[in-house]
Amino acid sequence: MNSSTRALALAVAALLWGSAALAAEPFDLVIANGRVMDPESGLDAVRHVGVRAGKIEALSETPLAGRETIDAAGLIVAPGFINLHWHGTDPDSDYYEAMDGVTSTFELEIGVADVDRWYDERAGRMPINYGVSIGHAPVRMAVMGDPGSFVPAGDAARRPASAAEIAEIQRRVEHGLKRGAVGVGFGLAYTPAASRWEILEMFRLAARYQATGFVHIRGASSAGSADREQGLLEVIAHSAVSGAPVHVAHINSSAQEAVGRMLGIIEEAQRRGVDVTTEAYPYTAGMTRIESFLFDSWTDKPDEEYRKLQWVATGERLTRETFLQYRGQGGYVLIHANTEERVRAAVAHPLTMIASDGFDVHPPSHPRAAGTYSRVLGRYVREQGALGLMQALRKMTLMPAQRLEARVASMRDKGRVRVGADADLVVFDPERIVDHATYEQPAQFSEGMRYVLVNGQFVVREGQVVQGATPGRPVRAPL
Ligand SMILES: [Zn+2]
Repeated sequence: MNSSTRALALAVAALLWGSAALAAEPFDLVIANGRVMDPESGLDAVRHVGVRAGKIEALSETPLAGRETIDAAGLIVAPGFINLHWHGTDPDSDYYEAMDGVTSTFELEIGVADVDRWYDERAGRMPINYGVSIGHAPVRMAVMGDPGSFVPAGDAARRPASAAEIAEIQRRVEHGLKRGAVGVGFGLAYTPAASRWEILEMFRLAARYQATGFVHIRGASSAGSADREQGLLEVIAHSAVSGAPVHVAHINSSAQEAVGRMLGIIEEAQRRGVDVTTEAYPYTAGMTRIESFLFDSWTDKPDEEYRKLQWVATGERLTRETFLQYRGQGGYVLIHANTEERVRAAVAHPLTMIASDGFDVHPPSHPRAAGTYSRVLGRYVREQGALGLMQALRKMTLMPAQRLEARVASMRDKGRVRVGADADLVVFDPERIVDHATYEQPAQFSEGMRYVLVNGQFVVREGQVVQGATPGRPVRAPL
């Protein structure tokens, strides 16, 4: 029996014999008395959740017997959060994600050049589930011999590829898809010399494998843009021509003052049948590499512009002199460019998913790595009422799961509290959930998650990280 027939059989059994029959064999774990919220079914009621062998096997109005029972009275029980935008490499950073409610995390926007290696390095070591895309930018860097770290710094950013190089990039991207990459990553803002034709060829490949293109759109970032909509219109065209779905990274920072217009464009394109989606993170600052192409136009700015930049390693604000010095050296820089009002609009809009764009928390990076989800639930849902709790949960669970389902069928069992779904669950206090990470001290755990389960195993228990817990499993397209 596969998992859905098993779930069906269990559901039928429960109907025929009542919950007493199921209760006869105790569950591995029962989450009792919690307010279960499931964005797919709309369920919002007190239920008892029975977990067995890493799966949700019962959702009951009457008490269940478990080998272990936790009391979730007064707490929300929801699907674990699914983060479609993550760049961390250190398993320790995943504990910060888990304390923020994330149970599956994906490196999709940039991706990697070697999919097998990425999965092999993580096997058996990860606290939460993990997946990766084959990345156009890292493949382009490998093919063109670019010396950059994470994003291009040389030829891969600034030189058009020859026909032979494009063919080699295609070959390697296709190999990544054959090795189970979850999508195709595009750092188009970091590879401005890549031609429209080169990118369209990659979208054609993605379409053949039912893979979504995850894109940092061209010409748009916190570092500035003359024409923000052009990069969005470009990828909508690629999607319409090729048939590959497209997901636009961090609309908050890519759109800035154009956030209303760009969300409107996405809405219109969806109405015309284009499969385009987007995401946002709840912070006014962006972060990227100072040596990347995004700052090529920054050598001659008015002095006050450099004050928007904050050097991550020291927390200092930059001047023209320190900007040039650090650009020569290379490293991460925060860009304080957006406004609270625009960020709220991006987070609350019904089209956006929540995704963190987080990096490793050590050495220090951006607070979004540790605080994204709790910040949405605490600041925007509870304090400001900018969006409802169920809607926020939908943006964190069901919407990202659905984004991956066409290529990765196993995602149909994530992002839901449903019999037969994976027991990736969060149990949290909606009155207390709060982010503590700041720009100056980004490595701070969020607070309010009481329990976080990944494949039925605790990663957070009684509000504390379960050190050494590694129940995370690979999420990978069928090979
Ligand atoms: Zn980006």
